Amino acid sequence: MAIANHKPGGEVDAWCTSCRADRLHRIIAVVNGQPKKVECLSCKGHHIFRPTQAQKDAAAAHKRASKGTTSVVSRASRPTASSTPRKREDDLVATWEKAVAGQPFESFKPYRIDRTFAKGDLVRHSKFGDGVVSTILDANKCEILFREGFKTLAQSVQAS
Ligand SMILES: [Zn+2]
Repeated sequence: MAIANHKPGGEVDAWCTSCRADRLHRIIAVVNGQPKKVECLSCKGHHIFRPTQAQKDAAAAHKRASKGTTSVVSRASRPTASSTPRKREDDLVATWEKAVAGQPFESFKPYRIDRTFAKGDLVRHSKFGDGVVSTILDANKCEILFREGFKTLAQSVQAS
């Protein structure tokens, strides 16, 4: 389906940038067998050749079709490990490290639900490790910053 070899002076369907519609154009200049500059037969405007909307749609459809046959191959690439911003977490880790780094073993209170903590207390938790009490939420709840982040834990709860 070769396209007719365009020659200056010939006529071609093209998108008219002035009429904003597909119009018959007279070819003014040709480059590599393709119309380069055209004159709209409706508005007599001169402009760069643009394919008609129909030609563009056909080209897009062709692109989609050929893509469908080839794109199946490149599906193996794994998404890179979570690229979400971690700034806040980095800050927390820095805060945590500052609080617990270099503290002697005996300055950590083993965490127990029936214990009462105060802000700034160093805590050693069996699961979360070393932490520092950041906020006393109420008489029976405190927030402790561990390596992995804040945890809200019970305190001063007397076992019945
Ligand atoms: Zn026009």
